[in-house]
Amino acid sequence: MSRFLLFAAIFAFPSVASAEQIYPGYSWSELSAGIYLHSRDDPFAGPVDGNAVVIINDADIFVIDSHINPAAARAVVTKIKSLTRNPVSHIINTHWHDDHTNGNQTFLSAYPDAQIISHPYTLEKLKSEWSAFEDGRRAAYDAVTVERINEAAAAAESAQPDRAISLRIYAGYVEALKPELPDLQLAYPTLAVDGQMEFDRGDRKIVVQWIGDGNTEGDLVVWLLAEKILATGDIVVAPIPYAFDAPMLEWKETLNRLNAFDAELIIPGHGTPQKDTAYIARLASLIDATLEAVKKARADGVAYEDLQKAVSLDAQKTVFTGGDPIALNAWNGYYFGPGVSSAWISLGYPVSEGE
Ligand SMILES: [Zn+2]
Repeated sequence: MSRFLLFAAIFAFPSVASAEQIYPGYSWSELSAGIYLHSRDDPFAGPVDGNAVVIINDADIFVIDSHINPAAARAVVTKIKSLTRNPVSHIINTHWHDDHTNGNQTFLSAYPDAQIISHPYTLEKLKSEWSAFEDGRRAAYDAVTVERINEAAAAAESAQPDRAISLRIYAGYVEALKPELPDLQLAYPTLAVDGQMEFDRGDRKIVVQWIGDGNTEGDLVVWLLAEKILATGDIVVAPIPYAFDAPMLEWKETLNRLNAFDAELIIPGHGTPQKDTAYIARLASLIDATLEAVKKARADGVAYEDLQKAVSLDAQKTVFTGGDPIALNAWNGYYFGPGVSSAWISLGYPVSEGE
């Protein structure tokens, strides 16, 4: 590169770069005055990552969820600093999963006085599971390269297209997270909410609330009363919900409670904001159908080990995936497989004979 080009590269573009704050695969949108969403462009691409919401108040800032990857969290900090000198005072972890908590430390490094809010269940799960999970991930990622995974994906393409999709998603995780893992630490929540906590910020009221079990047993929602914006965490995920360990019976009740907020905008834990409750209704009917299918399998004498093969949710599968192979991969991996197991356990059926 010539000196002139080097000069041009340094001085011609920085204002554009800092204004756009582009981090690959993520985009910003302003949902309402001072309320920003940083969201994955492709909800199925690896790493699958939660939405982060930035709420800029007169004198401070609240952030809802901190991303799976410190690099994505750093992009949020950079964006905040381009918008305001107000400090982040609170980071809300809607639940304990890594795609909502791994960036906590990044925010705390930039804003050391910030409090991290969660439900006590979230703190308990982070304390008992986070370190072992990330140690396992570090060991697994150390043993692979993105190139090898992509080669395996290419080799699987024709005979095992679904495996090729899974491998490409995995390559996305390794590519984004492997460089971050050596320094990854978790900043644990410091402020517990198991009922309701309200923050008055001038005309804005921020209500952090536990309204029942949803995607986990400690999901918090955030209600912006004046703006009528509701952030649900992974109680609502679009376009394919997650059902890992979900307490299905309670989840349905909690979904119904979301309708009572009369929200004008619902920000899911992943995916596109919803302007009405139609998607919530679809989720509730999906959970109903899952519970009914599992009840019928139990009544027909199906054992837990055979549940995945015995149960069909084909009508719902078509509604949620439209037959798209990548959406189908997510449906099987994130909803159908874990969902029928979660429904069985939620209904109190035995997972092994003799229980
Ligand atoms: Zn999530």
